[in-house]
Amino acid sequence: MAAANAKRNERDAAPSDQRHRIVSVETVPLHIPLAGQYKIAVGGVRSHLEVMLVRIRTASGFEGIGETQAWRRLGSVETLASLHEAITRHLAPRVLGKSPFDLPAIARGMDEALDKSLYAKAPILDALYDLQGKILNVPVHDLLGGKARDKVACCAVLLVKDDVEDTLAGAQKFWVRGYRAFTVKIGIDANQDIINVREIRKRFPDAIIRVDANASMTFDGAMALLKKIEPYDLDAAEQLIPQWDVEGLAELARRFNVPIMADESVLSVQDLIDVIKRRAATVVQTKVSKNGGIWWTQKLWTIAAAAGMRIYPGNHPTTSVGAASVVQLAAAWSGDLLDGPFAMGISGNLESDVVTEPLRVEGRFAHVPTGPGLGMTLDEAIIKKLRVEQ
Ligand SMILES: [Mg+2]
Repeated sequence: MAAANAKRNERDAAPSDQRHRIVSVETVPLHIPLAGQYKIAVGGVRSHLEVMLVRIRTASGFEGIGETQAWRRLGSVETLASLHEAITRHLAPRVLGKSPFDLPAIARGMDEALDKSLYAKAPILDALYDLQGKILNVPVHDLLGGKARDKVACCAVLLVKDDVEDTLAGAQKFWVRGYRAFTVKIGIDANQDIINVREIRKRFPDAIIRVDANASMTFDGAMALLKKIEPYDLDAAEQLIPQWDVEGLAELARRFNVPIMADESVLSVQDLIDVIKRRAATVVQTKVSKNGGIWWTQKLWTIAAAAGMRIYPGNHPTTSVGAASVVQLAAAWSGDLLDGPFAMGISGNLESDVVTEPLRVEGRFAHVPTGPGLGMTLDEAIIKKLRVEQ
């Protein structure tokens, strides 16, 4: 059976373009300091972001880059060391010797080599798109069919603060910059959460307000909180309860008039289909690293839109490389998108970027890069400075 399958795959495989055969896959682990106090419901305060860049080079002299993160919180078990191991030992052998234009076959080969592991596959698949674009001298959105928009709207994320005045001051800064949608991080102190949502609504009557508990609450806690904050016209309540409790999300969706968003519950396309079948959410947040890069995230968007769900293009805090992946994908997407938190790293949460010319974010809009590939060039001096041992 296995032999028959192997034979069939061999017969189906298109000839690889050997001019551009891939000669190296390098991991670049970075610690990037976070600006200010980065606090959400789980995991305490963080001092830095753990980023893993992947650089893929071809015999023809091109280099593609992709980004992922070792988030290490609910929904992500990856560390920089485990990402390095997965990428170099298990995934790179399915990439080396192939052409960047073998992307579909490489994606399948990586799935055969290592189940799930979407955080490790994402930077490889995105780097292959970057390479294709650089070789053909076109931006990634052209590889995806062309450009449906020139800029992509972002929302502001209001991290957990010690009192409501700090939260309001943070919201005000974003409002002045042009942001019109707030995602309020909740899930540590329900009383504080209620005060925050009430006061933000009072101060910004026209704002779009969403809340995000990062999968930290009990079902009962989520019920009690939603009852209290339901009157404040919320656009969505994001992943209040743990990622495994999809039935619980469905129950919340049935009981409240607040739209429910799934984030940590959706990594793979199968996860999304499960959420849809159970009507557990009507909004889905994607993150290119969580979901396996542009290749897989685009499939999620297609499935979500076909099921009538709203799409919230998010991300962990990332450098311009990870943000550019989202923006390139969004540029080529013809459907609606919510203003999502995909650029929060480069909009103030990270102390440093890693590219020579960061992704341009003006007001609440990220502009679509027009250079070849993802449109990003690494700053070697900064990479050297932020690089850590494996
Ligand atoms: Mg979230």
